[in-house]
Amino acid sequence: MEGELKPMNAEQLRECGHRMVDFIADYYKDIENFPVLSQVQPGYLRQLLPGSAPVHPDTLEDVLDGFLGEMLSAGINMVGFSWITSPAATELEMIVLDWLAKALNLPDDFLSTGRGGGVIQGTASEAVLVVLLAARDKVLRKIGKDAIGKLVVYSSDQTHSALQKACQIAGIHPDNCRVLKTDSSTDYALSPESLSEAITHDLAIGLVPFFLCATVGSTSSTAVDPLLALGKITKSNGIWFHVDAAYAGSSCVCPELRHYIDGVEEADSFNMNAHKWFLTNFDCSILWVKDRSALIQSLSTNPEFLKNNASEKNVVVDYKDWQIPLGRRFRSLKLWMVLRLYGLENLQAYIRNHIKLARDFEELVAQDSRFEIVAPRKFSLVCFRLLSPQSDEDCANKLNRDLLDAANSTGKIYISHTVLSNKYTLRFAVGAPLTEERHVVDAWKVLQVEASNLLRTL
Ligand code: PLP
Repeated sequence: MEGELKPMNAEQLRECGHRMVDFIADYYKDIENFPVLSQVQPGYLRQLLPGSAPVHPDTLEDVLDGFLGEMLSAGINMVGFSWITSPAATELEMIVLDWLAKALNLPDDFLSTGRGGGVIQGTASEAVLVVLLAARDKVLRKIGKDAIGKLVVYSSDQTHSALQKACQIAGIHPDNCRVLKTDSSTDYALSPESLSEAITHDLAIGLVPFFLCATVGSTSSTAVDPLLALGKITKSNGIWFHVDAAYAGSSCVCPELRHYIDGVEEADSFNMNAHKWFLTNFDCSILWVKDRSALIQSLSTNPEFLKNNASEKNVVVDYKDWQIPLGRRFRSLKLWMVLRLYGLENLQAYIRNHIKLARDFEELVAQDSRFEIVAPRKFSLVCFRLLSPQSDEDCANKLNRDLLDAANSTGKIYISHTVLSNKYTLRFAVGAPLTEERHVVDAWKVLQVEASNLLRTL
């Protein structure tokens, strides 16, 4: 029931785990009775499952009574790459990612029923790499492969370093990677004006702008780039628009938070890590694209040993062509179980609770005049720092570095840091499934005690 969500506790996990082990053991006992190759027809699973994710949770019995046998049979030792090797895994991935796309209110263009669709990658780094490759090849098909040196990528100085790595792999020269500066005036969001200026300049010197990576919920401070305004610019310049919502994307299943991805309609690809904030264990990074053919054109191979009737007839999805590796795991099973066992209402309650806990922490910080909040809190991350009695910025930075070390050395909490506008900033993140109010209060006490100790020595 909404508001009453408790992520599975140790006893529930023990009980469900035992039942799952029984289920798998029975499967192995009966394995000879199953056909070696699945006998289903393309599209079979969509007939059997509802069109959207459940709002209310199902019981484990309900889930087990469904299709888990078929799925686990693949999941236990699935050699997934083409539909033919893993119809259940392939189709469940399509269906579950359609469910989640609907829960996030993504535009229909991202659904597998049209020209787009979702695919589970291992990480956000792989997600941005594959769409960068798709975008690169799409533009090179138009202007010729020798023009790769002219291609320009745009991002902000808050964009995750995964983009830089993707550029290194994709052969985009560092000189052609525009890292646009942000500051506190936009809460560290990328300004559309600075993007426009950079594009205009690059066009004037004969370069080819082709890719923008915007972020919703940046790693440093959870900055949110203005998707709508940025998307208008990318659209009018024929630039592939990727949205990295690795952390914050999950929160947009709450209607009151959905506005953070307003403008995603303009994007070509959208990514969120279910393994960050959606109760799904690592790895499960979800990438939706509007034009799957762009990915497939970049990443498909068709060696003789993989040829099969279903693929030749072009009636199925072969996820091997949407990702870097050939083999793949049955990751949609995790997401499917999370959606069914919690239901959307509990997932929303889970997110809201974390945001509330972060808000509580923010209030505690605000009540102590020795501290300041450095960037506005949007999700479940609080950026704050201890004010230095000396006005010197270096002293303040050292003081906060020392506070971080002192607090982490207690072994009771672990907080991380970033630097915003040259300010060494502490980051308090609520994200662990079992975090409760008392943990937040205790963490704040640790910080206060360590701060008092440090200030006494000055
Ligand atoms: N993008 C953002 C906004 C992130 O916060 C992170 C991880 O912290 C990443 C990308 C990279 O994630 P992954 O480890 O899935 O590649």
